[in-house]
Amino acid sequence: MSENITNNTQVYAIFGDPVEHSKSPQMHNSAFEFLNIDAVYKKHHLKDGKKLKEEFLNNLYSGANITVPHKEQAFKQADEVVGIANEIQAVNTYIKKDKKVIAYNTDAPGFLKAIESFKDVNKVLVLGAGGTAKAIALALQEKKIDVTVVNRSDSKLEFFKQKNIKCFSWKDFRLDYFDLVVNSTSAGLKDENLPMNKAQLENVFLNSKYAFDCVYGKETAFLKLAKKEGLKTKDGEDMLLYQGLLAFELFTNTKADNSVVETMRKGLRGE
Ligand code: NDP
Repeated sequence: MSENITNNTQVYAIFGDPVEHSKSPQMHNSAFEFLNIDAVYKKHHLKDGKKLKEEFLNNLYSGANITVPHKEQAFKQADEVVGIANEIQAVNTYIKKDKKVIAYNTDAPGFLKAIESFKDVNKVLVLGAGGTAKAIALALQEKKIDVTVVNRSDSKLEFFKQKNIKCFSWKDFRLDYFDLVVNSTSAGLKDENLPMNKAQLENVFLNSKYAFDCVYGKETAFLKLAKKEGLKTKDGEDMLLYQGLLAFELFTNTKADNSVVETMRKGLRGE
């Protein structure tokens, strides 16, 4: 693709550290190609998050995505922050508009889109209290869905308390009924760990219908256990896809139809 770059080509990037593993370029470049848009999407390895906006502007990027560990720095440096990102205080998308950097969080609506196939979700348990849990919990709260956060330790719970979201550490959590249980911890990402004590999780699953894991591309121990207990399960692929799709719509100022969704899904899978 690079040999076709001209002065008119719009350039986009994903900032992260590490960034090598990112599937965003595959997703976005597939859609640019499919729609004949003169644009290219690159990986931009950035160690020092404080230089994010400077690097974004100096490289003349039209837009960008921001991944771990720079989402909070990206929020702080933006000229303008739109929507739920103001609550989450972390952003994953930058757009350049009239020399200004406008920031969005598409992880939150991407998650909501990903769980649309689960019907009648009124009460959700979110396992974990990191950046992803913040986006998910606030997205659910905004939809008036009852949400409870449970984390291994209590050091990260202050944010949720301030937002009036029920939150507990493992030791304080009392069993309840939930329609959906979400694993937003990194347990399962590079190991076979469960995000919570097995017996406790089995008890939670006895009273639940659906399980969603933010980890994608594998069936984690969490999803295996949920399936064994009879729950309907889903991994994080659609969450990744839809955060990308929503960013793509912002980049191109278009509304993507199903053919673009499927093109991006194939790009993500490397098909
Ligand atoms: P953070 O580092 O911000 O938070 C990690 C959380 O996981 C903390 O609450 C931590 O608890 C908890 N945790 C870590 N290890 C364990 C363990 N073994 N058992 C129980 N809890 C544990 O991570 P992020 O929020 O950025 O990411 C979380 C996960 O979501 C990752 O797997 C990431 O890949 C995935 N993700 C997927 C996306 C998608 O599009 N599908 C998008 C973004 C993230 P403690 O506070 O006690 O340390």
